[in-house]
Amino acid sequence: MNPERVTPAQRRAVLARARGRCEYCHTPDGFVPGSFAVEHIVPRSKGGTTRLANLALSCPACNGHKYNKVEGTDPLHGQPVLLFNPRKQRWAEHFAWSNDFTLIIGLTSTGRATVETLQMNQQKMVNLRRLLVLAGLHP
Ligand SMILES: [Zn+2]
Repeated sequence: MNPERVTPAQRRAVLARARGRCEYCHTPDGFVPGSFAVEHIVPRSKGGTTRLANLALSCPACNGHKYNKVEGTDPLHGQPVLLFNPRKQRWAEHFAWSNDFTLIIGLTSTGRATVETLQMNQQKMVNLRRLLVLAGLHP
């Protein structure tokens, strides 16, 4: 078996660990078209390994914008900073919800750069969160 491939057992472990939510924007699986990805936090192209410590569950939107990036720019200071790492950092230290739970607010340089780079507040995701709040499924 190719050691760089995510195994079915690893995929199950990542899904369970993330409790079926994107580890970046916390969107629950099952409400967006396309499959959630088991992504490499540090991409293989940049030396990342296929181990649980480097894997995260990511919705198609976050995954598509993250692609092979590990760094973004803090829009407040214009400084490059590493993106949020769900294995090494706590979500609540870097992000918060707006009062109506539709927008993700970056609390730190890492949080702001990740919100910006992954476009976590794009209108489609905000619309989805609005519906999920009404349905009692978010946050
Ligand atoms: Zn996401």
